[in-house]
Order: sequence, then C-alpha cells, then structure tokens
Amino acid sequence: MLDRLAAKGRQRALGTVLNVEAVTPHMRRIRLGGAEIAAFVQGDGVDAPGAWVKLFIPSGEGRAYTLRAVDREAGTVLIDLVLHGERGDGPASMWAAQARVGDQVSIAGPRSGGFAPPGDTQWLLLAGDTTALPAIQSIAGALDASVQVEAYVEVNGVAEQQPIPTAADWRTTWLLTDPDEPGRRLCQQLLHHPLPSEPGYIWLAGEAAAVRELKLHFQERGIERHRLSAKGYWRMGSADHRD
Ligand SMILES: Cc1cc2nc3c(=O)[nH]c(=O)nc-3n(C[C@H](O)[C@H](O)[C@H](O)COP(=O)(O)OP(=O)(O)OC[C@H]3O[C@@H](n4cnc5c(N)ncnc54)[C@H](O)[C@@H]3O)c2cc1C
Repeated sequence: MLDRLAAKGRQRALGTVLNVEAVTPHMRRIRLGGAEIAAFVQGDGVDAPGAWVKLFIPSGEGRAYTLRAVDREAGTVLIDLVLHGERGDGPASMWAAQARVGDQVSIAGPRSGGFAPPGDTQWLLLAGDTTALPAIQSIAGALDASVQVEAYVEVNGVAEQQPIPTAADWRTTWLLTDPDEPGRRLCQQLLHHPLPSEPGYIWLAGEAAAVRELKLHFQERGIERHRLSAKGYWRMGSADHRD
C-alpha cells in the first residue's frame, strides 16, 4: 500500500497529538507531530489550498480532513475537526471530543482540495458549512489582494464563526444552519445569487445533497466545468460518505 501511495505522490505518516485546542464549542484543533509527520510536511502539495488527508484515528478508522495548516520548520500539521455528536456521532468526531496529547494517529495523502481557478479569474464565490471552514480558511490564506471574494459559510451557531485571515478583497456572510436540513440556508442564499459577468470561479463543499443541488444550479446557469469545484464532504445519515 505504501508503494501505491508513493506512486501517486502520497505518503502515510504516523503522528502524535502534540496539542488539542477548542477553537469554538464544536471545533477541535489538533496539532500532529513526530518524525514521520516532519517528513510528510516536506512533500509536494501539503500546503496547496484546501489540501486534505485521510486521518486514521486510534481505532484504525479513517475519515477525510483538511490540512488546516502545515509548519514545515516545526514539522507539524493542524487539523480542525467538527464535533457533530449532537446530530449523531461518528468515530472521528467522538475521538476528537476526547483526543489527548500523546494519542497516536496516522494521515495519508495529501490530496487536492479541488481549488484550481483559471488564470483569468476576477472573482471567487466560496461556499460551505463548518466542515468546509478549514478549507475556506486555507484558501483565504493563499490569496492575494487582486481577487474579489464572496464567502458564504453555514454554521450551527454564532459561536462557531471564526476569523478568516486573508489579503484578498473578501466578504463573508455567515448563515445559521437549519438543524433539520443542513445546507438549506446555503442553497436559499445562492440559488438567487447574482454573478458578475467577468470570469470567475466557484468552490463549494459541505453536506452532499446541498452541494449537489448547488452544483447543478450553477451548471444550469452556464458556469463551465473548469470554473466550478463542488464536493460533498459528508452526507446526512450516511457514515464515511465518499463523493
Ligand atoms: C475532502 C474533505 C475534507 C474534509 N475536511 C474536514 C475538516 O477539515 N474538518 C471536518 O470536521 N470535517 C471535514 N470533512 C468532513 C468529514 O470527513 C465528515 O464529517 C466525516 O463524516 C466525519 O467522520 P465521523 O467519523 O465523525 O462520522 P461518520 O462515521 O462519517 O458519520 C456518522 C454520522 O454522522 C453524520 N455526520 C458526519 N459528519 C457530520 C457533520 N459535520 N455534521 C453533522 N452530521 C455529520 C453522518 O451523516 C452519519 O450519520 C471533510 C471531508 C472531505 C471529503
């Protein structure tokens, strides 16, 4: 398996939890380090905006998580995990809620976050839920002042809003999740959203049904394939969803 990963430019690295932080009431940030992680962060693609890995928790189960940040000098990575236990727990969320310094986990990757705006892009529309927030922050950190960005982020409460540091000309609209229908508020906002006539790029991630609805909508509005990235990050009622 290691050979197969290497052929794709990916590695699997064992790491130790060095730090656990409650970023918000429902977001845990873990810092991973150790010799294999230090080697992992020297590889290609780890700091591409929205890059992600498969995180294998101590039970051995694996789930997809964004590399929120990598520190090549320190040889560490940060991963932000949503605690979604109130709406049905999963092994990764349960582990994150009780993660301790010293826990051993592995990561495999990196894989592309799909963020690939063409060179003529003048505006960006980014939309997602709390699971997409680490990727949105990672994208934000990579942008320069030349691009205009509108971001729509659906969160479970005002306390889940986070700063999004960026050099770009950036506007965030925070939406509160309808607990019965995650992603609905994003759809309501974006289905009637006016788009500039200049060339732009749309990046979507979050609950799979909502992302799919938005993707179809923007395709129907004539957004070309290379100007649209859409990925379901999880699916309501389905464990270990893969888009
Ligand atoms: C490319 C990519 C990047 C991702 N990056 C991140 C990230 O940086 N941070 C992050 O927190 N998540 C991220 N996710 C989403 C994460 O992989 C899923 O939420 C995953 O299902 C969590 O695993 P689990 O073991 O907690 O739950 P699972 O065992 O997969 O699911 C158990 C139950 O929980 C429900 N569920 C899963 N996630 C949620 C949720 N967020 N809210 C409510 N119910 C949920 C499922 O519908 C299911 O009913 C990413 C996904 C992808 C594909």
